Amino acid sequence: MNVLNKKTIEDINAAGKRVLVRCDFNVPIKEGKIKSDKRIVASLPTIEDLLKNNARVILCSHLGRPAGTGYEAEFSLAPVAARLAELLGKEVKMAADVIGESAKSLAASLKDGEVMLLENVRFDKRETKNDPALAKEMASLAEIFVNDAFGSAHRAHCSTVGVADYLPAVCGYLIQKEIQFMGGALENPKRPLVAILGGAKVSDKIGVINNLIEKVDTLIVGGGMAYTFYAAKGWGVGTSLLEEDKIGLAAEMMEKAQAKGIRFLLPVDNVITKEFSAEAEYKTVNANEIPEGWMGMDIGEKTRALFADAVKGSGTVIWNGPMGVAEFDNFAKGTLAIATAVAESGAISIIGGGDSAAAVEKLGFAQKMSHISTGGGASLEFLEGIELPGIAALNEKE
Ligand code: AMP
Repeated sequence: MNVLNKKTIEDINAAGKRVLVRCDFNVPIKEGKIKSDKRIVASLPTIEDLLKNNARVILCSHLGRPAGTGYEAEFSLAPVAARLAELLGKEVKMAADVIGESAKSLAASLKDGEVMLLENVRFDKRETKNDPALAKEMASLAEIFVNDAFGSAHRAHCSTVGVADYLPAVCGYLIQKEIQFMGGALENPKRPLVAILGGAKVSDKIGVINNLIEKVDTLIVGGGMAYTFYAAKGWGVGTSLLEEDKIGLAAEMMEKAQAKGIRFLLPVDNVITKEFSAEAEYKTVNANEIPEGWMGMDIGEKTRALFADAVKGSGTVIWNGPMGVAEFDNFAKGTLAIATAVAESGAISIIGGGDSAAAVEKLGFAQKMSHISTGGGASLEFLEGIELPGIAALNEKE
């Protein structure tokens, strides 16, 4: 599969057609109120484009984890329909079910340029099993399928994969951008390609390291996962995060990097504390000088300069995972320094989803990055080189 060759919303003529659009409306809702409408806002370009082209737009999404035994008010998408109507400045008809009488009659009576939303696709437990009967019924509501839910693209469900068996299937603008940036960086990067990996666990990122080591010019490892690499070098790590069962693997990765002639960087100094807390007293020590009873909480000043320098002059940077415990201000300096360096590098900058995306947003650098992935698990799997079922199911350009 060539992800860069997938058909997009720009390859279809949607005028007068009923278009089923899988969105990511999995927004935080508390007591019926939407806490962040970021994902709804992010879906607007695709929806507005289809409406402008006089399509009949049928939106669908999951929300949370309902039991799968029918309607549950707590997991209803009705608040999303209301917010979306405000953002679009037009009515969003809300179906009372997924493929029941309400959905079918609303879809059948939809006029050109009108939009409706199906209820939570997970109200039907067959959704997450990619049950062909449900997929066929969903598909029967429409004539074209547009997938714009990157955050769910690593799941083979009816609304992400199954419907593509019955309808022409293309991606919307959100997935198109994910493919362009992440796919582009992996397939044909502007070099030098630098990857910065951080966060808590080596075990979460093994697949990413394995895949990126084949492609990058420089690999930078920071954050809690760096200490397992320290241990592989025989360096003391005190009470820092350590995955003993991954020490061998860390050693293998470093050998591989060396054999391939890749520049591989670990922190040369660390900010350390005696306890894991926001207020803990701290000091900075060089690598291999972490005393017993102390833990690494952030990369030190020399490391910030070293990593920033490695980012300078790069063509593409992929960054996933904070450089320290960035939730605590005292230990966010390393992550801030990397965010600054990446933002100022002039490189194509790609931020993996999850914690690094949140850190970049919190620190106010979101606008300066070329691409912040909208998926957590999905972007990790993409970077691991795993074929995402929701992308594999899309039609290819001839
Ligand atoms: P991840 O989800 O794997 O990207 O990891 C993000 C988490 O890693 C954040 O909650 C950070 O607080 C944590 N983290 C980063 N560096 C360290 C460190 N040196 N010690 C403990 N936790 C860390």
